[in-house]
Amino acid sequence: MSIRTRLTLWYTGLLGISLFIFSLLLYSLLSGILLSVVDDRLATQAQNVINLMQTENDPLTVMLSGKAKLPPIDVFASQYYIQIVQMDGQLVQVSENLRDTHLPLSAEVKDDIANGRIRSYTISAGQGARLRELTMPILLVGRRVGAIQVAQSLTPLDDSLNVISRALLIGSVSSLLLAAVGGVVLARAALRPIQAITRTARRITQTQDLSQRIPVAVPNDELGRLTSTINDMLARLAVLFQTQQRLVADVSHELRTPLTTIQGNLDLLRRGAADDPALRADALRAIGDEAARMQRMINDLLLLAQLDAGLQIHRQPVEMDTLLLDVYRQAQVIDRGVTLRLGAEDQALVLGDRDRLRQLLLNLVDNALKYTPAGGQVTLTLRRGEGWVQVAVTDTGVGITPEDVPHLFERFYRADRSRARQSGAGLGLSIAQWVAQAHGGRIEVESQVGQGSTFTVWLPQMTGSE
Ligand code: ADP
Repeated sequence: MSIRTRLTLWYTGLLGISLFIFSLLLYSLLSGILLSVVDDRLATQAQNVINLMQTENDPLTVMLSGKAKLPPIDVFASQYYIQIVQMDGQLVQVSENLRDTHLPLSAEVKDDIANGRIRSYTISAGQGARLRELTMPILLVGRRVGAIQVAQSLTPLDDSLNVISRALLIGSVSSLLLAAVGGVVLARAALRPIQAITRTARRITQTQDLSQRIPVAVPNDELGRLTSTINDMLARLAVLFQTQQRLVADVSHELRTPLTTIQGNLDLLRRGAADDPALRADALRAIGDEAARMQRMINDLLLLAQLDAGLQIHRQPVEMDTLLLDVYRQAQVIDRGVTLRLGAEDQALVLGDRDRLRQLLLNLVDNALKYTPAGGQVTLTLRRGEGWVQVAVTDTGVGITPEDVPHLFERFYRADRSRARQSGAGLGLSIAQWVAQAHGGRIEVESQVGQGSTFTVWLPQMTGSE
């Protein structure tokens, strides 16, 4: 069953129940009020007859004779049935409109008469008609001498109640119908955006086009917010999907170059170069270099995949000055004709992962050495500031254009592809930035084309409380 049908059924059902309860209450309230009006009238009539009896009878005569004169009750009996009974229930006088019958004297009525109670009952008069009857004691000279019963047909009251109940029924049914139709229309309008969401989602599945977005009609309601969230999710998915596609393309491209070199050198060896020691040594070195390059790239890629999967760093106090010295010594082995120097070196502690921090610094130093022509200089400095440790790698190399700077940390990004052979795969800075950020730090770049670059790493300094 659709949400629309369910909503409409619930809505109409609840309205139906409340209308039913409301009608029932109104009906019983009205019938109660009307019945008490009838009872008041019956009591007034009974009292009128008793008053007449009291004025027409001289108390002394009644006392002496023990008998009372009965009033002409038919004057009261146009629409009322009246009868007078003795204390023992014996009929004394009956109004003419009762003809041969009389008002019933049930055990309860006799009991009321005997106990002098004023009480009214609804009695059936046959063929669905009803009578309302009231019994009232007659007091003469301070004594109860009998009772008067006054009754009236309830047909006019029943007619009115019938009209009311019919009006309530017609009103309720038409309100329900109106509510059901309105409910369907409202539910359809409210759920229309969901249909749009379903349609777009289906189109995306069919066409595999993540650039499609769901139109947002009202941005601030619940469905508008849901739609915006889905649109944001689609945008994010599209970016991830593109990154994934680009990654696959880049990886294949990057692997093709070393593989071609390896393949070419193998061909060379097969065609006889293996016999010439110098040629063989060249070919094997080239193969070895390319294999090492591929291995580095695959290691980097694996590391990045682990980082993406949420790799945790193992934090421990790291003396940054010692680490920088290690990196300096390690990098000195790389001989590209560039002078590597140690500048200012403060002592500083960082709470971090020693191996990852070493990798970060090595990546920066390796880049500086790679992109600085022979004869240039690379300087490493370590400074401690207010809560921060700052490690800078400054070179006098080729520099980076301002257009390239924002993209440097993207995976596989290389500023100048014509220099690609001497560089890696464009993953080093992505890894460096991840390590800095995982330590709560950042990397800043300052560069001037032809003058050189400075990569500065900011890391939070370890405080005594940590
Ligand atoms: P790669 O393996 O290509 O060096 P990186 O991610 O380490 O990849 O660096 C990305 C790009 O940033 C490099 O290709 C290079 O163009 C540029 N780059 C990085 N460091 C320097 C530097 N010190 N001087 C000039 N260019 C640099």
